[in-house]
Amino acid sequence: MSYSELNNMKSIFSFLILLSSAVSSPAQIRKSENRPNIIVILTDDQGYADVGFNGSKDIPTPGIDRIASNGTVFTSGYVSFAVCGPSRAGLITGRYQDRFGFARNPLLAPKDSTMGLPLTEETMADLLKKAGYKTGAIGKWHLGAHPSLIPNRRGFDEFYGFLSGGHQYFPEKLDLNDLSEAKSQFDGYRTKLLKNQERVTEQEYLTDAFSREALNFVKANRDQPFFLYLAYNAPHAPMQATEKYLNRFPNIKDSKRKTYAAMVSAVDDGVGDLLDLLQELQIEENTLVFFLSDNGGPTKDNASDNKPLRGFKGDFFEGGIRVPFALQWKGHVPAGLRYDAPVISLDIFATAASLAQVEPKNKLDGVNLLPYLSGQKKGVPHEELYWRNYNADRYAIVSHENKLIIQPKQEFLFDLKKDLSESKNLFSEESEQAKRLSKKIEEWKKQLMDPIFLGLLEDETYNRLNPDRYTPVQKDN
Ligand code: CA
Repeated sequence: MSYSELNNMKSIFSFLILLSSAVSSPAQIRKSENRPNIIVILTDDQGYADVGFNGSKDIPTPGIDRIASNGTVFTSGYVSFAVCGPSRAGLITGRYQDRFGFARNPLLAPKDSTMGLPLTEETMADLLKKAGYKTGAIGKWHLGAHPSLIPNRRGFDEFYGFLSGGHQYFPEKLDLNDLSEAKSQFDGYRTKLLKNQERVTEQEYLTDAFSREALNFVKANRDQPFFLYLAYNAPHAPMQATEKYLNRFPNIKDSKRKTYAAMVSAVDDGVGDLLDLLQELQIEENTLVFFLSDNGGPTKDNASDNKPLRGFKGDFFEGGIRVPFALQWKGHVPAGLRYDAPVISLDIFATAASLAQVEPKNKLDGVNLLPYLSGQKKGVPHEELYWRNYNADRYAIVSHENKLIIQPKQEFLFDLKKDLSESKNLFSEESEQAKRLSKKIEEWKKQLMDPIFLGLLEDETYNRLNPDRYTPVQKDN
């Protein structure tokens, strides 16, 4: 038995003791029958190494680390794609996004009803609303800017944030009244924020504003089951931070890394305040909190750190798809556990569906993780996990410790247990294993759709095909 297995056994054992003592308390029984609140905290482009619980030395994250010490860290926690949009489409539906053609980062095209998450898909907010949850989305959306695709039409009672793929952080830079004033893809970064469907003038640094709104949402909904999707755009570029946070890092000399650290630190304050509030309202044992990043760090853009992983945002090497990932549910999920078997962002939806006791509309790819953490279920949550990058004709599969990446003229086979940094390509010497995994990919591919919209890389083509992309819709239409 390895050290981590031993630790797992210990944590499961203490969890069982905790469980048996909880059973004797009537108050606890009543609480566990209630459907727990669910909070998903998503960061944007944060590197694997850039949280304390994964060993960060130069960027302390005491707030985020509380989730790890109160709960479980997934050391092999994946997302379903290596850039923002498709990764979010997977997370919010619990399904591989290529099943419904969400294969690219959507363009900002507010007049295009096909540019985003198709209406055939059920979001986690749709699902939880069926179970009587109050639902809120805060921060970055990136799943469609057409009026039929905005958060308020996709199951969220409340929305505070922006629709595009990124945003300026300083309120004075939000100088467009709305998307009708946008003339280019990146003008989407400059719009005033939306409170539901109304534009508002924000006064605070964006990350602080989202934290403030998250606290308000929880306070307002403390007495009923709620689902909060808190999608910070930090620490995605543009690199912008306030003095309050920059001053915490006098020892970081590289200015980009310093700003990145400040941006992460701002998120960390928000997470810490949110956990404090759960404690204060005494709903900590009735609230499941997930924390993860939407993809690996793009080191050149934001000075993030994916070590010891190979590769970056956009890659199917681990640095693109393995992210900081943890969850807490006090009294229900083992505390201080490091869980090593591969899990994926798609599991969040399935876990929520199971806890809310509601049947999803579509077939899910994720699984409920909790029985694996308690030891109630043996084995691993996933025999295989898959990735496709349609534009690059690149595929990947992780099956236990084995990983295969195939792309035109290049194949890689790695043993992740022995070689987490993917430095030794075993493709030639272990051809049987490679063949087995390649066959699995071929089977999985048959279930996927071609992309249903052009993406960020096809911005110019899209403009050519849609010359009226930014022309405002007439109000009386
Ligand atoms: Ca991202």
